[in-house]
Amino acid sequence: MGDTMRAWAVSTPGPVDSGPLVAIEREIPAPTRGQIRLRVVACGVCRTDLHLVEGDLPPRRPLVIPGHEIVGVVDALGPETTRHSVGDRVGAAWLAHTCGECRFCLADKENLCLYPTFTGWDIDGGYAQYVVVNEDYVYALPVQFNDVDVAPLLCAGIIGYRALRQSALPEEGRLGIYGFGGSAHLTAQVAMAEGARVHVRTRSPEARELARSLGVISVGDTDDPLPEPLDASILFAPVGTIVPTALASLDRGGTLAIAGIYLSDIPPLNYEKHLFQERNLRSVTANTREDGRDFLEAAAIIGVSVSVNPYPFSQADRALADLKHERFTGAAVLVDFDSW
Ligand SMILES: [Zn+2]
Ligand SMILES: [Zn+2]
Repeated sequence: MGDTMRAWAVSTPGPVDSGPLVAIEREIPAPTRGQIRLRVVACGVCRTDLHLVEGDLPPRRPLVIPGHEIVGVVDALGPETTRHSVGDRVGAAWLAHTCGECRFCLADKENLCLYPTFTGWDIDGGYAQYVVVNEDYVYALPVQFNDVDVAPLLCAGIIGYRALRQSALPEEGRLGIYGFGGSAHLTAQVAMAEGARVHVRTRSPEARELARSLGVISVGDTDDPLPEPLDASILFAPVGTIVPTALASLDRGGTLAIAGIYLSDIPPLNYEKHLFQERNLRSVTANTREDGRDFLEAAAIIGVSVSVNPYPFSQADRALADLKHERFTGAAVLVDFDSW
């Protein structure tokens, strides 16, 4: 092992086709107190990475390395670490650290922590051959999933799971899903395993095909009418104009949960048409570690099938461009971290 590693960093945020993500060489980071270092073996490509690279999410530090669906093998332990051993396969996700002391942390709502840090935004992430993470914030990974399949579970899966819980879907309820990419296709499987009747609306014909193959009740384009009123919906597409459509399709007392960290502007709502009759609109802000553990356990029991598109690590920029231009369905995952 040399002293430097390959990585991708965000230079000047801008349209993905203008090359905002640059290949760099950087010193291999050393773990400090409470931290462990992972040799990255796979890293999922999340839509949030695209928002960061394009500047929808303002960068929090110059030349940050994106990536927060990290599958890695522990390769060095910092001082005062006790939870993992060199050689363990673990996963690192979006939530990198919380303060543990604010009123939200103390109320078991660490997803709302006032002083959180996020992987691949505040601290360097997994578009790199090595990454340093806090040992208390990594997950044990179910053995039945290989490195590539398990990567998208770490954000797409966990955040989708929280969105499902936030949608307050009743038992055997009717669930609408708007947008059907990496996160939605995992969430739909969890919902169906719990008995939900799932309806998918997306403008992508390929994604509709994937939804159909997973066994949802109905598929259609974004504005196609629903065959039944919905108890709950989750908006995965980062498109604010879908919000009124989704609210109008809810039954009385229904809830729309918005799963993304970024959403384009929501057009004006009409109280009578969109909110009256006790319809609810909720957002999802990160997740707790408990959400993460609950989801990974559920995913293992259900045996979720993960639709992945592997890209060599050396082509992370192409993976992001393909995500932007909807050139694949399911989730992109960076692999082959050695061969560059
Ligand atoms: Zn806190
Ligand atoms: Zn993510």
